[in-house]
Amino acid sequence: MKSHIPLIVGNWKMNPATLGKARKLFLDTRKEIGRKKLETQIAVAPPFPFLSEMQRLSPSQRIGLAAQDVFFESIGAHTGEVSLPMLKSVGVSSVIVGHSERRAAGETDEEIYKDIQAIFKSGVTAIVCVGEKARDAQGNYFGIVEAQIRSAIRSIPKTKLKQLVIAYEPVWAIGTGNHATAEDVHEMKLFIQKIIADQFGRDAIKKVRVLYGGSVKKKNAHALLAVGQVDGFLIGGASLKPKEFAAIIHIAESHGKGTL
Ligand code: PEP
Repeated sequence: MKSHIPLIVGNWKMNPATLGKARKLFLDTRKEIGRKKLETQIAVAPPFPFLSEMQRLSPSQRIGLAAQDVFFESIGAHTGEVSLPMLKSVGVSSVIVGHSERRAAGETDEEIYKDIQAIFKSGVTAIVCVGEKARDAQGNYFGIVEAQIRSAIRSIPKTKLKQLVIAYEPVWAIGTGNHATAEDVHEMKLFIQKIIADQFGRDAIKKVRVLYGGSVKKKNAHALLAVGQVDGFLIGGASLKPKEFAAIIHIAESHGKGTL
């Protein structure tokens, strides 16, 4: 089956400290990626207060804008929340949902489900994060990932599947330097595709991209793409280092074109 166009998303989390530093990070990232036209789709997810300035710096959306989270209601008395219409108005085209750091802060499967419903209605892409906290010898982590996915994507209309990206992010691999092996990532990718096929039919696999996230670096990116067979990455720490982030993008580009 022909693979998807690679998608590389940088999650800046609560970084950098100021708008000035965010501007520099964005411009350095753009410079390191270079001017050559790429097939690989690229997005970064800066903190909310920096989004509109990043939109100004990237009017062509060559580097797309993602949000790190969203609230499912569109307007009203919801202090501290940010809605989809607000995000769309500053150029956001994809939203990370259910990141493990949001789940750890108390976000529930039910809230994630509501966020995804709102995202699908709004026409932007949902990057839905799933992943186990720890691996056990009995393989219970498969059940954990399956439950997270089934809860998140229940009742999604098949016509909207192109807006769905699943990011497999084992929590133990996030920010630790311990990435999942390429073989384990491949096994999980097949498992996720089986869940998608069970719910929507086999042709749905072509529409839904599966990313890997968890200590992705330029030194492990090629194996994760070639052996892991994922369609791209969700990248935390390395997205704050423009040279490293750009190197991963270029590896994905060469991989996508079959030149690596
Ligand atoms: C993440 O937070 O989504 C992530 C994958 O982080 P890191 O790349 O730093 O492990």
